[in-house]
Amino acid sequence: MSVLILADHDLGQLSPSTARLVTAAQGLGDLHLLVAGQGASALAAAAHFAGVSKILVAEGPDALPTADSLRAALVALAPGYSHIIAASSSLGRDVIPGLAARLGVMPVTDVVEIVAPNRFVRPIYAGNAFEHLSSSEPLHILTVRTSVFTPAPLGAAVPVETLAPLAPGRVTTLRAERSAGDFPDLTSAAVVVSGGIAFGSVEKFAALGDLATALGGAVGATRAAVDAGYAPNDWQVGQTGKIVAPDLYIGIGVSGALQHLAGMQGAKRIVAINTDPEAPLVKVADYALIGDLVEIVPQLIAAFRKA
Ligand SMILES: Cc1cc2nc3c(=O)[nH]c(=O)nc-3n(C[C@H](O)[C@H](O)[C@H](O)COP(=O)(O)OP(=O)(O)OC[C@H]3O[C@@H](n4cnc5c(N)ncnc54)[C@H](O)[C@@H]3O)c2cc1C
Repeated sequence: MSVLILADHDLGQLSPSTARLVTAAQGLGDLHLLVAGQGASALAAAAHFAGVSKILVAEGPDALPTADSLRAALVALAPGYSHIIAASSSLGRDVIPGLAARLGVMPVTDVVEIVAPNRFVRPIYAGNAFEHLSSSEPLHILTVRTSVFTPAPLGAAVPVETLAPLAPGRVTTLRAERSAGDFPDLTSAAVVVSGGIAFGSVEKFAALGDLATALGGAVGATRAAVDAGYAPNDWQVGQTGKIVAPDLYIGIGVSGALQHLAGMQGAKRIVAINTDPEAPLVKVADYALIGDLVEIVPQLIAAFRKA
């Protein structure tokens, strides 16, 4: 059996989720990695992960590969594979459903464990239960929550096969730019510091950035904080935001609504900082600091900087 993994990349860099996808797929069969889009040949040089036996390269016309043009390439490649696997990222979530529809196959999304070639585990009910499902499809098309897998190390150089360039799709990416801030990728960061509406202003929310920097982590936000304009949309953690599973998650002024918990319950250690000892996030936290964030956050920043 051969397995096709779709490499995720962003502005000329492989996304950390690509190495994690390789770990998720280990043991399923012969692993091929497709690096597609503008600059794919250069990116392929950094994609020789242990366990991958071949890298396929398809250059593309767009600054970021569009689902439209990728899908056509994947449809052509599909007959040679038992599995096509992508990250549950913006790209994977965009490409996979349409690909599955084109191939007449039911996709399995948000996989957190691959038990056997046709048996998968994924969260349901906003992360409150896990569904174990077995699929009788001849081709398994999956999206994987990569944050639960460790990154595969780099391995020996493997053959690189150059495919025909991606054909332009109906949608074109005109420009792509990195959002402000120099934080690690939220979905694969080891430490995530999230803030809620309780911060009260953009200026106060910015303190989270200092705390995240002191810890080498990424910044997350609740939907309420995003809606209030304190944080950009792509920092939102939760059911309708990003799914994170860091080693350490610090939620500050975050109540822990069900929809927020759905995005971070996989964290290995949870710390809640809240004035309300009854807040749902306090209930699920490993450690809680009950108090006012206005007093606690500056003290934490000072302490971590000193440490
Ligand atoms: C369909 C749907 C999808 C949604 N998707 C998401 C999602 O993806 N992500 C998400 O986050 N939400 C999502 N929501 C919204 C969610 O239900 C909550 O409204 C939101 O998470 C609450 O954000 P919050 O914790 O910032 O605010 P609140 O719930 O208002 O909580 C504020 C918290 O701050 C504490 N606090 C107040 N002052 C201080 C202080 N000075 N110091 C310390 N603590 C303080 C309070 O005790 C409280 O616990 C969704 C809702 C719906 C209906």
